[in-house]
Amino acid sequence: MLDRSHKPSLRSQAMTIFNKIINKEIPAKIVYEDDLCMAFHDVTPQAPTHILMIPKKQIRSMAEVKAEDKEVLGHMMVKCSEIAAKLGVSEKGFRLVVNTNSWGGQSVYHLHIHLLAGRALSWPPG
Ligand code: AMP
Repeated sequence: MLDRSHKPSLRSQAMTIFNKIINKEIPAKIVYEDDLCMAFHDVTPQAPTHILMIPKKQIRSMAEVKAEDKEVLGHMMVKCSEIAAKLGVSEKGFRLVVNTNSWGGQSVYHLHIHLLAGRALSWPPG
């Protein structure tokens, strides 16, 4: 059964700035929101289009994902595709990135998908 309460469990980690965005305690340029997830513009965009997609459930990183999270994670991927189409970046292309833990370049410990688009993106990453 999918947990739609978004209440952090007793063993969950400290709240992050993204919890404050979910709770509307600080502003964000929200492009999509439903019961399970929220997407908003990154405050320091690395490309002309830079959206962050987050689960409302507090999941610290991809390294802590559980089997029970597969529905919300799949839902987020579908919504990223829909948002890319709505923003008109699908045809040229876009990149989804999930930085994970220290060597993965994660700085906010609330799982998030970066949706980057609007310019040609190089590969491999740095
Ligand atoms: P990461 O380094 O992968 O953990 O990505 C965290 C992202 O959150 C960075 O791209 C930041 O620019 C972004 N960020 C941090 N604070 C905010 C905020 N208040 N609103 C929007 N984006 C934010």
